[in-house]
Order: sequence, then structure tokens, then C-alpha cells
Amino acid sequence: MATVARLNSDTARWREMDRLHQLHPYTEFKSYAREGGRIITKADGVWLWDSEGEQILDGMAGLWCVNIGYGRDELAEAAYAQMKELPYYNTFFKTATPPSAELAQILSEVTPKGFEHVFFCNSGSEANDTVVKIVRYYWNLMKKPEKKTIISRNYAYHGVTLAAASLSGLSDMHGQFDLPLDKGFSHIDGPYWYRHGGDLSPDEYGVKVARKLEERINELGPDKVAAFIAEPINGAGGIMVPPESYFPEIKRICKAYDLLLIVDEVICGFGRTGQWFGSDTFDIEPDLMSIAKGLSSGYLPISGVMVGERVAKALLASDEEFVHGFTYSAHPVACAVAIANLNIMRDEKIVERCGAETAPYFQSKFRELLDHPLVGEVRGRGMLAAVEMVQDKARRAHFPNEGETGKLCRSYCTENGLIMRATRDSMLCSPALVISKEEIDELIRRFTVALDQTAKDRGVTT
Ligand code: PMP
Repeated sequence: MATVARLNSDTARWREMDRLHQLHPYTEFKSYAREGGRIITKADGVWLWDSEGEQILDGMAGLWCVNIGYGRDELAEAAYAQMKELPYYNTFFKTATPPSAELAQILSEVTPKGFEHVFFCNSGSEANDTVVKIVRYYWNLMKKPEKKTIISRNYAYHGVTLAAASLSGLSDMHGQFDLPLDKGFSHIDGPYWYRHGGDLSPDEYGVKVARKLEERINELGPDKVAAFIAEPINGAGGIMVPPESYFPEIKRICKAYDLLLIVDEVICGFGRTGQWFGSDTFDIEPDLMSIAKGLSSGYLPISGVMVGERVAKALLASDEEFVHGFTYSAHPVACAVAIANLNIMRDEKIVERCGAETAPYFQSKFRELLDHPLVGEVRGRGMLAAVEMVQDKARRAHFPNEGETGKLCRSYCTENGLIMRATRDSMLCSPALVISKEEIDELIRRFTVALDQTAKDRGVTT
């Protein structure tokens, strides 16, 4: 503490307190403790400012979550009013609060047909852990207790708690923690046409890769498999957009083998695909849906599991207590903020306007980057875009040390005042849905500079 007190600029003090005492998510502790990080102090629209006053374009809407953009007073006012009236009460033991009831009603209106019930949690991970429990409970209620395994996909990101990380298919999430858990998790390939499609057309490949589900069900035994879970568009794994043929085949297989179909809408939900839900975009008709991020545009933590008719019917027919719930399930302040967020989305037609105007513009601008010598593929939908960087476009050849080029490009983005994410050598972008066309132009301008700098360092001629 003594050192910190002697530092005279705010930045230096915050950096020192942070460096010495805070352990950060997804961060190398050793180098961070030595070097520290940057301090973000305020935000408005799609812009962030750091403690030195530098203005940064947030191409990731935080962590894919600030769908309506930063700085909306209505959400701050909703939180303040709710904190004064009832700052906390829980929803255990036959109790509700006005905001929890109202938010549940609104969700039944904005989510796809057939979703009349929600169970509230606080994060995407908690929502997916809750999904795992609901799936197990459902098949126990249906007197098929042997139906337990949930099949998920390689490259999937479903969260970091033990069950959600077990569902996830990014292998580096498993090694440090002896995951996946021993029982009930199985992974198959998901669609990644650019890398694995070979000579097949996207649609031929979509069917082929969907049939991996059928193969795995038959390997495990259909009577052992409980459910299949997927993000509509895989997010953190690299924004892999499924071919149109993929989900129809997945739906057929889930029906044929009596699997629950679960969609993780944590990123795709609330407008990210240019429609309200990824399940609308791909006509998935799932049985369960996890939601988070855009539900409150990240202003406060809140998530939920939307429970469709089939599962709700079984749950509602049971006389026993559901032995699950979080202290902060349906926190009244988080619910009030989510209501204000969804009201803004509906009143200002943010999703519809984004889907009709901004998203097509965003996609077309990103597609223009295909001319860049470093860019092998541009993929995306709605306000999600990925740029995959390769060493040799003609041969689709990747750089030998995968991930290094992504990290390099990400640092150049940061130097140029732009936040993008890197997954392997793909650069990911997911800005607020309210980004303007001028701001998209500025984003592309900064990103192109970063791509040029990366290409130069990697010896790819521009
Ligand atoms: N599902 C998906 C698709 C996600 O992208 C994430 C987080 N990025 C999660 C679940 C986990 O959410 P959280 O970090 O809120 O636990």
C-alpha cells in the first residue's frame, strides 16, 4: 500500500493496485503481475476511454454484450429507482418481485414461439449449468434416467463453470482443470467449412458435418443420449456460420433419436444475428435456450434459461421442489435494467433497424477485406464478423505457429485504438448494434491499418 499511496497520477495508482492485488480472467498471471494493464474509465455509444484519455473504438461491445451501446441513461435510472424501492429480494420459496414477473412476461413475448417460461440466473455459465441440470431432471422425470449424455461441439464456448466448461469444446479450457467431467459429456465437430469443407459445397458439407451427431448417437447408444447443444453461430470459437443445410439436418436427427435440442443464445440472442434470436435466423425450434449478455446489454449481470413447451410441461407436472437456484436469481435491480434495455430495443426497433440497414452494411464492408493478401476468409452474419488470416490464400495455408498472427494483429488493433478479439488466427468483431455507418467505416479503416502492419511483419506482401 505504501508504494501505491506515493504514486501521483491516478493511472499509476490504479495500475499499481490492480497489478499487485487483482487476479484477472483469461490472463497470464505472471506477465500481468510484472507489466499490469490498461484502465478503462468511461464509455459512450461504441466508444471507450482509458484513464489517459485515449478514445478507443470498441469492436467487441465489451464481451459481445453491450447490444444497445454504452451510456443509456434509462438503464441507470431504472437501476436507481429499483434500488430505492427494493434493492434486493429473492425469488425462492413462492415469492416474486414486480420486475422479475414483468421481465418473465416480456421474455415470453420476444423469444421464439413456444417459450413461455424462464428460469433466471446471473451469467451465461450459470445458465448453461442450469440447462445441464434441467436436462438431467427432465429425463429422470420421464423415467428414462439412462438418457444422460449431452453432445456438444468442438470449438464451442458455453462458459467456465464445471458443467458449462465440460460442454465447451475449446480444448485449452479443459487441461488445467481435469475437464470435461467424467460422465455425460461428448464432443463432435461443428461446421467450419473454410478449414474442413475440402471440395464440398457449404451445403453438402453442412449435411455431412451434421451427420456426425447421428454417428455419435449410434456409437453411444440412442438410449444414453439426452440432448444436443449448439450456439446458432459459434462465437468465441471463431464465428463459424453454419451452412443453411446444417440445422435442418440437426433437427431431423434430434427428432429421430428423441434428443432435446438446446440452443446457446448467449451471444446470438437479442439481435446479434440481425434478428431477435439465432434460433429465428436458422429456424431451429429448440427445446431450451440459454440467454444472457444482450438481455441487459451487459449493464448488470443477468441470464436465464428459456424453457420450451415440452420440458415445461414435464416440470410443471411435478409435485416435488426443484432443488436449484441462486441467491441472485431474478435480482430485482438486474431485472429492472433488463426491462429498460428490452423496452429500448423494442421502442427504437434496434434489432429491426440493425438487421435491415447496419448489419448488411457491416457485412459488405468486411467482405471487401477479402482483397487483402492476408485475408483467407471473411465470414459472418448480422453484427458478427470474422476475418481469417492465412499465409497463402491460394492454398488456404495457415501460419505455422497458429495463434501468433492473431495476437500480433490484435496488438496492432489496440495500438490503432480499436478493440478486436483474436481466436487462433481469426480476428473477431461484434460491435454494439447501434454502431453507425460512419463508425463502421472508421472501424474498417483502423482494422485495415492493423492488417497491413501484421502482413508486413509476417512477410506477406500487400
Ligand atoms: N455461452 C456463450 C455462447 C458465450 O459466448 C459465453 C461467454 N462469452 C457463455 C456462454 C458464458 O457466459 P458468462 O461469461 O456470462 O458465464
